[in-house]
Amino acid sequence: MGDRELEYVLGITAKPDTKTSGYLKVAEHPDGSEETLPFVIVKGHEDGPSLWFTACEHGDEVLSAASVVEFVSQLDPRKLRGKVVAFPVLASTAFNIKHRFSPIDSYDFSRAWPGFKNGWLAQQVAARLMELIVDDADYVVNIHNGLPGVLMPTPYIIATYDEPSQWETMFRGFTESFLLEKIVHWIGKSTERGARTSTMMAALLKAGVPSVVPELGPETKVGLAAGLRAYENCMKFLGMLPGQPQKLTKYRAFPDVVHIFPSRGGVFHSHVDLNDEVKEGQKLASIISIGGDVSEELFAPADGVIIAKWLLPMIGSGDFSAYELAVFEEFDKPWPGER
Ligand SMILES: [Zn+2]
Repeated sequence: MGDRELEYVLGITAKPDTKTSGYLKVAEHPDGSEETLPFVIVKGHEDGPSLWFTACEHGDEVLSAASVVEFVSQLDPRKLRGKVVAFPVLASTAFNIKHRFSPIDSYDFSRAWPGFKNGWLAQQVAARLMELIVDDADYVVNIHNGLPGVLMPTPYIIATYDEPSQWETMFRGFTESFLLEKIVHWIGKSTERGARTSTMMAALLKAGVPSVVPELGPETKVGLAAGLRAYENCMKFLGMLPGQPQKLTKYRAFPDVVHIFPSRGGVFHSHVDLNDEVKEGQKLASIISIGGDVSEELFAPADGVIIAKWLLPMIGSGDFSAYELAVFEEFDKPWPGER
């Protein structure tokens, strides 16, 4: 691994045994002011892999950002082999006003890849980051954490690849090193579903850079601990930190995640919990209309495990989503939709 030029620090070259932080201009706002992203680069003593941590593609997912900041602040460059590049807040404008999407473009950053130089703000930022990542990164960890306060995930990790052989050659060891039991495999047909082709993972796969998405949860304490443990063990696996990496005794593979959407509004009565294993046809929830009647019942469309669950006491048509169901086999019925 060569010591590549760090174009993105705009003249600041990270020296061995140092941490460098700053703000990188990635786009321009309509009034001419700058969209900047905070970054930290930790450079070890010896050459080694370049590992990128990115978070907060959704501005409200502050646990993802906190996990990166906490982890990087604890890294000692003298014990590090290689380089860590951290961009803990990608959707900067949205993050600063505690929104999920930036009001400048109202665009879903996590569906803005590989970006477009003359596109929406999110696409412009993605295009700039794409250049830097492809130029510099050997591995990317892009962290999410559900819809805080609205849809709570159990910790899981997603790997995206086209061919089963890529799992063994590019992804398996890296993905399993995060010590998250539930692994969602977006592979082949499932990669084409919804807008998954415009994710960072799909764009990086095309460019030959392996990346994964850990979803942290269910709340701050457990989610943060899961993230910190995951990142440290992943760096041991990559030989960037001293020590033997751990492995879980068991991992569960899910070839699809199905979102279960309500079509009626009302009080949300869930009959299942996060991490419950459910059978096809099992009743998951009842929705009680304003008039007090059961207006809709939601059923499991396949066997699987509930990996995310709606938190608010009321739900409505168009809400995202009552549940995310990780299924044991590729879902071959009509796709219920995804956003
Ligand atoms: Zn997210």
